[in-house]
Amino acid sequence: MQHALRPSALVPDGFAVESAVCDGGTTLITVRPTSNTSACPRCGTRSDRIHSRYLRHATDLPLAGRPVRLVVVARRFRCDAALCSRRIFTERFDGSVLAPRARRTARLDYVVHHLGLALGGRPAASFARRLMIPVSNDSLLRLVRRRRSAPRVRPTVVGIDDWAWKRNQRYGTIVCDLERRKPVTLLPDREPATAEAWFSGQPQITIVARDRGGGYALAAARALPHAIQVADRWHLMENASRAFVEAVQKSMRQIRSAIGATTINPSLLTAAERIQYEGYLRREEANAAILGLAKERIAIKEIVRRTGHSRGLVRAVLRGRRSAFSFSR
Ligand SMILES: [Zn+2]
Repeated sequence: MQHALRPSALVPDGFAVESAVCDGGTTLITVRPTSNTSACPRCGTRSDRIHSRYLRHATDLPLAGRPVRLVVVARRFRCDAALCSRRIFTERFDGSVLAPRARRTARLDYVVHHLGLALGGRPAASFARRLMIPVSNDSLLRLVRRRRSAPRVRPTVVGIDDWAWKRNQRYGTIVCDLERRKPVTLLPDREPATAEAWFSGQPQITIVARDRGGGYALAAARALPHAIQVADRWHLMENASRAFVEAVQKSMRQIRSAIGATTINPSLLTAAERIQYEGYLRREEANAAILGLAKERIAIKEIVRRTGHSRGLVRAVLRGRRSAFSFSR
């Protein structure tokens, strides 16, 4: 079914178009509210007694490749409620259309918010300019933060771990609300003192899931002595798999003889498995050479010279800290 497109269909609900002009590259649309009344922000009583009019500006969705500015002919009303202390108030619109004091319509805010979420501050701002949506980097970030900082419940069960700003170079700390499955905060580093300072502002926390290292455990013990600390599932799995690999490695000879295979047939491996297997053989060979020399009571310095491996690696092998199996972490 077709029907004529009225100019008012182009502007947000509750407004009628008075006029539209092009001003340079911008389209200026003058609108007036269609409602005859507005509710007093103090007492909620609706009033239709107009005191005066004023112009309010708001950016709206772009139209045909041009940015749009709405010029709203808004009103001031008198509040006649006997017990209300407010005599005159400015017109209020529905928050889902144009919030009090907003410089953008709610439907434009919605688009800007999602651009900010998808692209982040600066890229979103430059993409918004291409879409003829004039919005600065700062106001984009402000909008994303304002929408996110809606009513928040203070977490009682949290998980804490480190995360990489840049892998192997700079680490921060992330705290998650494990009941709501949401990040709560990001801390700039992984120092126990930083975590402790954050924990001490959160006395409602009753359970802390953490890694098996000492830093976060210490921070939680100091700031939240009443809280229960548990090792988190990821670290338990990681510990278990490491212990399993070490146990297998120690009994490798017996395992091989039990299954009747002393060597692996490389032609049966996938390319990735072959690379892994070759690495394993290389490490096993290096470990055996180093251990052999050590058995002959040759000094570390001399082993380094003869094998060409680094001092750190030789020491790791001698202390049993370097397995031929490679670990991801
Ligand atoms: Zn009132």
